[in-house]
Order: sequence, then C-alpha cells, then structure tokens
Amino acid sequence: MRARKLFARSAFEFRRAFRAFWGTALVLGVVALLWRGWFFDLRQPGADYARGVAAALLAGALAIKVAARVLTGERRRSPRREMLSDIELGLLLLAAAYVFLSVLGGTTSSIYPLIYALVSFLVTFHPLKTGAPLAAAALGFEAVMAFGPGAAPGAAASFPAHAGFIGVFAVLNVAFLHAEVARQRREHRKRLEAEVQSMREEARDFRLISPALAAESRLRTRAEEEEKLSQGSIETIHQQLLHAIELLRHALGLKTCALLWLDGTGEKLKLKELSTTAQNITEGALPARAGVFAAVLKEGRSCVLESPRPALLPYYRGPEEVAAFVGVPVFEGKTLRGLLIGDRAKGPAFTPSESQLFVSAASQIMRIVQSERVFQAVERSKHEHERFYRASTALNRALTLEEVYAAALEGARGVCDFDFAAIAAFDERTGRHTVSMAVGEGSEGLLGTQHRDPASIASMVVKNKLALPANGEWRERHETHIFDGRDRVRGFESLYVLPLLVKDEVLGTFAIAARRPGAFSSDRREMLGVVANQVAISMQNGRMVQSLEEQATTDGLTGLLNHRTFQERLQVMLGRADRHNFRVAVLLTDIDHFKKVNDTYGHPTGDAVLRRVAGILKASARKIDIVARYGGEEFALVLEGTDRAGARQLAERIREEVALQTFESGQGVFTATLSLGVAVYPDDGRAKQDVIACADKALYAAKHGGRNRTVCHGETSREAPSLRAAVG
Ligand code: GH3
Ligand code: MG
Ligand code: MG
Repeated sequence: MRARKLFARSAFEFRRAFRAFWGTALVLGVVALLWRGWFFDLRQPGADYARGVAAALLAGALAIKVAARVLTGERRRSPRREMLSDIELGLLLLAAAYVFLSVLGGTTSSIYPLIYALVSFLVTFHPLKTGAPLAAAALGFEAVMAFGPGAAPGAAASFPAHAGFIGVFAVLNVAFLHAEVARQRREHRKRLEAEVQSMREEARDFRLISPALAAESRLRTRAEEEEKLSQGSIETIHQQLLHAIELLRHALGLKTCALLWLDGTGEKLKLKELSTTAQNITEGALPARAGVFAAVLKEGRSCVLESPRPALLPYYRGPEEVAAFVGVPVFEGKTLRGLLIGDRAKGPAFTPSESQLFVSAASQIMRIVQSERVFQAVERSKHEHERFYRASTALNRALTLEEVYAAALEGARGVCDFDFAAIAAFDERTGRHTVSMAVGEGSEGLLGTQHRDPASIASMVVKNKLALPANGEWRERHETHIFDGRDRVRGFESLYVLPLLVKDEVLGTFAIAARRPGAFSSDRREMLGVVANQVAISMQNGRMVQSLEEQATTDGLTGLLNHRTFQERLQVMLGRADRHNFRVAVLLTDIDHFKKVNDTYGHPTGDAVLRRVAGILKASARKIDIVARYGGEEFALVLEGTDRAGARQLAERIREEVALQTFESGQGVFTATLSLGVAVYPDDGRAKQDVIACADKALYAAKHGGRNRTVCHGETSREAPSLRAAVG
C-alpha cells in the first residue's frame, strides 16, 4: 500500500517538475537559438538544413506549449503558484513573439510594435510582481536580439530606443492601471451610495420607515411627531388621488375630473382633487344640495346626464361647454364620503361601461385613503412601542420609590398623552389610599393626602383588582371621583385607573386622565396595563429596599431607633451643636423593677409595657429629637437645643405620664414607673461617650435615690414628688 502511494506521489511530483521543466527548457532553447540567429536564418535562401529543422521543431514545440497553456487555462492552488504560472506563460508568449519577430526580420522588422503591444498587455493585466519580471525579460530578449552573433544588421543601434520604449510602456501602463483601478473604485462607491440613498427614499415614500422615527425623534414631542406623521400621510394621499384622477381624465378624454369630499356636517362639499382644462372652476366649498350633487348624494347611485344645463353643474362659475356628465358616490363601507365627477366638452353621453369605470375608480380612491390610514396607525403604534420599551427598561433600573414614580410617568407618556396622573399607595390594614405621586391639572395639594372613600374609583379598582373604567371613558365624571369627593380632579373625558398588582396583592393604584375623549384606546390601555405591572414590581422592590433600611435602623418591638443608629445620630447632632453652638440634652430612662413585671405578668405583658412607654417617649419628642431603644427596657431621648432645666421639665412630664398608665394582664391591673438620668452637652462633657456616661450616672443615682424620679448630672437625687410602688 505504502509503496503504491509513494509511487503515485513520486509520479505526480515528476510530472509537475517535468511540466515546469518543459516550459523553462523551451524558453531557454528559444533564447539560445535567438542568440545564434537561427530563426532569422530560416528565411535566408540556402540556409543550413539542420539548423532550419532544429529551429522549426523548437518553434513548433513552443507553439504547442503556448496553445496548450492558453487553451487549458488550469487553475493554480496558491497565489504563489499562480504568479509563477503567469510568469511562465508570459515568458512563453514573449519567446513566441520574438521567434515570430526573428523569422520576419528581427527587431528592425515592421511588425516590431507587436512587442510593445505584448509588453503593455503583460504589464497591464498582471500585478506588478508578475508584470515587472516580464518587462525585464522583454529587455533581456531585446538584448539577445541586439547583441548576439546572429543579430540582424542595425539591431544593436536600435536597442537603446527599443529598451527605452519598453520601459516607458511598462511604467505608463502601470501608472494608468493604478489610476484606472482607483477611479473605478471611486465610481463603484458612488454608485453604491446613490443606490442606498434611493432605497432609503423609496422606503420613506412608501412609509416603511417613518421620518419621525429618525435619529432626532427623541427631541420631538408626541404632538409634533403626530403632526409630522399625518402631514406625510396627507401628502401621499394627495399624490395618489391626483394621479388616479388625471389617469381617468386622460383615459376618457374628459374636460374635468374632480373628487369632492363631504365636510363634517354633510352640508358642504369641498374640492379635494381636480384635473381640468376648464377656466371657470368654482373655488371653495359648494352646497351638497346644489344641482346634480343632490341627485347623486340623495340616491347614493351613479348619475349620467347628456347636455346638462349649466345650473346643474355648480362647480363651474361661468359658462363652459359640456356635452356629457357622470357623477358617482364615494362610499366608505356604508357611509357616504363624497363624490367623483367627470364631464366631456364634446361627444356622446357616458356609456354604462364608462360610468362603471367611475364606480371602480371611486372605490379605488377610498382604498387609497384607507390604506394610508392603516399605514399611519401602524407607524404610530411602532413609535409607541419604541417609547414604551425605553420606559420599561427605565422602570427595571429604578431602585428608589422616587425613581419608580418618575419612570412610571415616563412610561405612561410613551404610551399616550395625558393631563393628569397619580399613584396612590394602598394600605390593606387601614384601607387607606395615600397619594405618593401626582402631576398635572388638579394635582395641586393632592400629594401626601389620604383617602378612605369606599365608593371612589380607586377603592373599586383595589376591591375588584381590575382597571376602571373598562373603556377608559369617564362617563359619570360628575358623580364619581378618583379618590374622594374632595379631590379636585375634575372635567376629564378620559380616565383609566389601574391596580398596581403583584401576584394577588394590590399595592396601590395608578390613575391617569386626559381632557380629550378617547385618549386611552384599547391597545393603549393594554400597554398602560404592562406599565402598571412593572410599576407594581418596581414599587415592591422599592418598598423592600425601604423596609430593609428601616430594619437596619429601627427596633422591631417598639419602632424606635436602635442602639447603633442612636449612637450615629447623636454623634451627628453633637457635631452640629459644636458648629452652631447649641446645647443638647441626653435622657436615659430605665423601667423600675421590670424583672418583676416579667416574672409576675409574663413576657408578652412586659413587651406591651415597653411598647406603651416607647409610645409616650415618641409622643413627647419633637421631630428633630432622637428617640431610641437604648437596651432591654432602657430608652434614650436626645433633645436638640435644650438645656438642663428644659430637659428636666420634659423628663418629669414623661415620668408622670408613665406613672399614670395602667396596664392590664391576666392577673389584674398594674402600673409601672420610670427612672430618668439627664446630662447636657457641652456642660457635662464634650465627647459623646462622656455625655452618655454622665446621663448613665444620673440614672444610677435616680435608682439609688428610690426610683420613679429624675436626676440631672451633678445633682444629688431628690425625693420624687409621688413615690409609688412599681408593681401595684
Ligand atoms: P431596676 O429597677 O433596678 O431597673 O430593676 P429591673 O428589674 O428593671 O432590673 P434590670 O434593669 O436589671 O432588668 C431588666 C429586665 O428587663 C431584664 C429582662 O428580663 C427585661 N427585659 C429586657 N428586654 C426585654 C424585652 O424585650 N421584653 C421584656 N418583656 N422584658 C425585657
Ligand atoms: Mg435595666
Ligand atoms: Mg430596670
């Protein structure tokens, strides 16, 4: 097996080498004979017979080889092989040309320009890498012909001129070739650009891409885009209608062909499209009852007249010669939209087939208008979807509730125009709607308001978990209201209130309203539904983020700030106090004998006491103060801008309030008391830890002094005004 393969491979290599050898050998042989001048001798009378035979054989072999190469035109596998093959063929052609030349009298022969032509050809149609060696080879042949022992007389003298010419030809051809290639490339590019441009224009003409959707579309408002869209549509309709009418006029040899359109009232006809040779055409609206119009419109059928009286043709304001008239109604479905008329100056009345042609033209006209409407609708929805998509990506990115509301508005704006929008959060426990976003007419003062009207649209939307009013039209807009009777959202024709649903839970409502009727068509309502779904999900995420933040800063049992946040806020407040030079009072409280409360009444009752005390603390503090759960049953209160006297006053109020509380339990009613320690920044210390330590010391003193009392740092405990047992 291996031997056979090896043999096959060697045979192949041998054949290839032999083929290559043949070409080279032939060229070398030709060069040798040219050098000796044997080909030249062939023509000489009484030439050497043997030389003649040798030269003829070589010339014959060369001719066969050239013919074989040219005819078979084999393809080479690599660019290098291809180049070598081209050079070989070029050399063979050159050799053949010089043999021919030599036989016919050498370089001084009259067919010499053939060589220039050949060199030009070789240089022009090959890349420089192939062309240059071939031009050099031509120079070599030239030298052989000029300086060999067999050179023709006078050949040496003409060598410089020939060599120079060959060089110039080669260089010129290369230069020409490159310029030509560059020019062709340029032209090709230009042609391509022109084609792309014309394709774009056609697409725009057929309204496949909307001009409004081009790059600058972001800068335009929806209204401008709509206007642009309908402008484009109107132009297209006009062009097509005019074309149809002109076609009709030319085909039937009419004087006038016109399309008249009924206005909104159905009383007047407007000249929409006109093709005429008449002078006296009436401009402006025409009464629909005038002349022949009444006949066509009333009957809703075609009307053909012969030599009509001028009064019957109100579209002429002066005398016009009319021999025949035809008028047909233009219907859209069953609704009459206008009429198509035509008349002739001379000739017979319109035949039934001609009037039938008018009927088909009328329905064709209606189709033009309808298809343009469809185009416009498709384009608008394409546009809306794009905006809608942009808004929904914004909603996906929204993290905070503020971002969610802004993205929701943007999303709704992408879908339709509106004059009012609001989002209200719904609390299932209290049944309250809290308006958390409101924009547009009637939204003033709405933000942050709470509503609990079960008859409101928002409440019904929450109850049914369905968007209302189902068709987006606010029919009973005087009797119903979105949130409650006090809201000032009034006078809108279109309204749509959507539930913000996550799975089956209603987080709130998204209300949107517009002055104009029909603002929320069914496909828009559908897209608004998708926006609402995304708003709900984003809102839940926003709430989750908010609740995580709350969990990290507040105490679960009492809802007050936790210890860590107390430390942070106190630090911040002391920094401010330092800069702005005000006092800060720190109160630490501890419930007296709380262990006993737990032991006697149980832990859950203890928790209730903690919550009640926390509530009292919270209620006695201002918004700027810090109220925190400091530890188990210890609370801290930080009062901004308060001195010792003020702090003591408040502490006493709190203490008394707590002492007045009665708590219920399974084992009966009991009361609880509080001990409080007060320290003041910067009087008792400048560092946070020092102030806290002073308050703690004061609290300790209060406990030691008998409990149920307030002690300020630096004072000894005083007798509490009313000492009562902590456990009743
Ligand atoms: P004193 O008057 O000296 O403050 O007496 P006390 O019994 O209040 O003593 P202490 O401050 O040492 O007791 C704190 C008790 O508070 C211990 C613990 O059982 C209770 N406690 C701490 N955290 C909670 C809580 O979250 N819920 C309830 N029910 N009890 C708590
Ligand atoms: Mg304690
Ligand atoms: Mg205690």
